[in-house]
Amino acid sequence: MKKDQVIEKLKSINYPGFSRDIVSFGMVKDAEVVDDRVVVTLNISSQNQEKKEEVISNVKKVLAQSFSTVEVALSNDTPPSQNSSKTPEPILEGVKNIIAIASGKGGVGKSTVAVNLACALAKKGMKVGLLDLDIYGPSLPIVLNLHEQPQMTEDKKLIPLEKFGMKVMSFGFISGNDTPVIWRGPLVSRMTEQFFRDVEWGELDIMILDLPPGTGDIQLTLTQKLKITGAVIVTTPQDMALADVRKGADMFRKVNTPVLGVVENMSGLMISGSIPETKSVSKINLNGKEIDVDSSGKFSMILDLFKKGGGQKESDRLNVPLLGKIPILEDIMLSSDRGNPIAIEGEKSSAGKLYFEIAERLLKQINDLDN
Ligand code: ADP
Repeated sequence: MKKDQVIEKLKSINYPGFSRDIVSFGMVKDAEVVDDRVVVTLNISSQNQEKKEEVISNVKKVLAQSFSTVEVALSNDTPPSQNSSKTPEPILEGVKNIIAIASGKGGVGKSTVAVNLACALAKKGMKVGLLDLDIYGPSLPIVLNLHEQPQMTEDKKLIPLEKFGMKVMSFGFISGNDTPVIWRGPLVSRMTEQFFRDVEWGELDIMILDLPPGTGDIQLTLTQKLKITGAVIVTTPQDMALADVRKGADMFRKVNTPVLGVVENMSGLMISGSIPETKSVSKINLNGKEIDVDSSGKFSMILDLFKKGGGQKESDRLNVPLLGKIPILEDIMLSSDRGNPIAIEGEKSSAGKLYFEIAERLLKQINDLDN
């Protein structure tokens, strides 16, 4: 077995508590192979002895299958200042998974998906963080009806605001209504980094990142700064046909971030109504289609405004799952405007249920990544 094959094998070892491997974290400095013996040099800057030992034991375990002697050396020769740029120490040690919600362009409902997904995960009992990085159009102050300024700890760390059991942070909490539209890449990326480094996120099961729309440099920098578990791309059915999803998928692949799936938003218009129970009708004709009427007289249908099945076709082509389809629903829009995302109502509302199903499928995808 050669050095690059050893490195390849080490990619199966995740840094404890992360779904990212030790090679991509830059923790593997060298692997020297002499006949049946291998010496792996690790550079782990974390002070956590337990985690270090776990990594060493996993390296030994994985390589023992191919070598009779496996030695692990720890190198401390890199000064911490250089270390931080070359070997990205996990900056969010306490956060188990980071999921980026992205879209090719604005207005497709990316933020609405991000916030409802976060709410659904929180309602499922997970410790959730929601970070709105949409610097040019921060949505959290409105959709969560939050207008306080975050407080600082004594060591100058921002304390995230709390709402619906989630820890939340947004450029909008800091900049208020004065959206800094003239901010350029370097400043945005510095600010963004601060939102990871200088915010007391604490222990989280999952952090949802609401990325700015598009797949430009800012998004690329963000995804490189932070090791993201995976991305979800939000799009509308008509954009599916465009290069939108593909561009997003390409961008994440460039930085070795898996695309965990696509959410098709605004997939048709939900029409619903009811007829008096006394009529005891089991079907009605609506827009040329036979629709079932339930025992309480209620009926609903999805009117396809655009092409149908685009989401599924496009996800198949990209080989990523379609995590869900959300129709245009007045309830979704009104509840966001009121500062109470619909998913807070739980699965009892039909719109809320859609986000719970997406959350469930997303968790399955994350789980599959880990195994
Ligand atoms: P983006 O983040 O992609 O710019 P937003 O999430 O801010 O888009 O959504 C844009 C507008 O569309 C908001 O007013 C939002 O309430 C509304 N919206 C999003 N998804 C839906 C939906 N499925 N049904 C109805 N309105 C929606």
